[in-house]
Amino acid sequence: MRRLHGVRLPHAKQTSDMAFVPLPLPQKVVLPMAMHMGVPCTPTVKLKQQVTVGECIGTSDAPFSADIHASVSGTVTALTDYRMMNGTVCKAVEITPDGEQTPCADLTVPTYTNRTEFLAALRRSGGVGMGGAGLPTHIKLDPKSKIDYLLINAAECEPYITADDRTMQEKPLTILKGIRRIMEVLEIPECFIGVEENKPDAMKILRDAAEKDPQITLAPLPPIYPQGAEKVLIYHITGRVVEEGKLPADHGVIVMNVSSIAFLEEYFTTGMPMVMRGLTVDGDCIGKRCSLTVPVGTPVREVLQYAECDFEKLDRLISGGPMMGQCLPDADYPVTKTMNAILALSAKQQRRTTACIRCGRCISACPHRLMPTELEKAYQRRDAARLDELKLQLCMLCGCCSYVCPANRPLAESNSLAKLFVRQQKEAAK
Ligand code: SF4
Ligand code: SF4
Repeated sequence: MRRLHGVRLPHAKQTSDMAFVPLPLPQKVVLPMAMHMGVPCTPTVKLKQQVTVGECIGTSDAPFSADIHASVSGTVTALTDYRMMNGTVCKAVEITPDGEQTPCADLTVPTYTNRTEFLAALRRSGGVGMGGAGLPTHIKLDPKSKIDYLLINAAECEPYITADDRTMQEKPLTILKGIRRIMEVLEIPECFIGVEENKPDAMKILRDAAEKDPQITLAPLPPIYPQGAEKVLIYHITGRVVEEGKLPADHGVIVMNVSSIAFLEEYFTTGMPMVMRGLTVDGDCIGKRCSLTVPVGTPVREVLQYAECDFEKLDRLISGGPMMGQCLPDADYPVTKTMNAILALSAKQQRRTTACIRCGRCISACPHRLMPTELEKAYQRRDAARLDELKLQLCMLCGCCSYVCPANRPLAESNSLAKLFVRQQKEAAK
């Protein structure tokens, strides 16, 4: 099978052998009501109300949504409007911890006898895809067509990030139980766990654990970025091509992030909803790089202080990896359900942008063979028709084009803005 194009990146997985440690309780948590793809939640708590860990504090009647739960026990000290990284504004609940971490008395271990009950229980977990997009898990696991393959995305192909790697090393049996649970409920005959070969410890542990299960296969992937992009992963493991405008489930495949699987299994074992997040803290401004578990909603500043960040040197804060991550507006932004890493980088890692020299490297690096230079020009002209012709919609914003560009042109960033522009044009035309 022909392999899709990509780039070889420095791995910089310095935290791969650092076990998760819990961050000391923060001074406060801020829980935005839109940490997921879909309809934002509405707060269900009042100012000065006492809350406990796992208590639902935000919900929505819309099916395409994910409940928000208190990650600390304490007092609701503010109900505010909050601007998310994508510019949208949502409500947020601030809780000041009481230091007790009292679990919610209403939590019970979920039970189910059929698929409908399983999905209803998942709906109450607040679970979302932890690999980035934040699709509610009860939506992902409710396909309308027959599924042949469950693919576990454990590629974690961006430099620095090791949150999935650590989860695999620390919770292999939980992951396998979660996989079996999903395969049984959704009647999926086969599962592949796609892991980049730069994680030998995690691969060995998972391979040993899955040895006696012929339906679950470890699929090693070459460390060529972006192996973890959904369509790339599906093609390389199953040979199936997800057509334009279609979903993986339309082609008989469900892809789930490996940390999301671990969460799902823990939820069905303990009843505790999604209130904690495992993340990597790294970058050249960090004095004590680490793998941390933190309550969702913890201000990034408190994570950075724990990791001995040099704030004087700090130029950029990134949520996620250097290729697809998003710059944080400030250190007061909260850790969300989908944040798998915080990178604190100095200005010395910035390169100057110059004019395009027409070398074509961006086209060669693109897994979809798009033409990033032409896309950039079309966006500069705000030419929606040309962007459509150039298949902007296929761009996964993987950043390979920007990475290889000797002129350091922000091609992926331009595509991201172009997608927003096209979306706004379509909405205005309605
Ligand atoms: S054009 Fe899009 S898909 Fe292609 S390399 Fe650039 S960011 Fe990735
Ligand atoms: S890689 Fe950069 S310099 Fe080369 S053609 Fe693409 S945009 Fe131009």
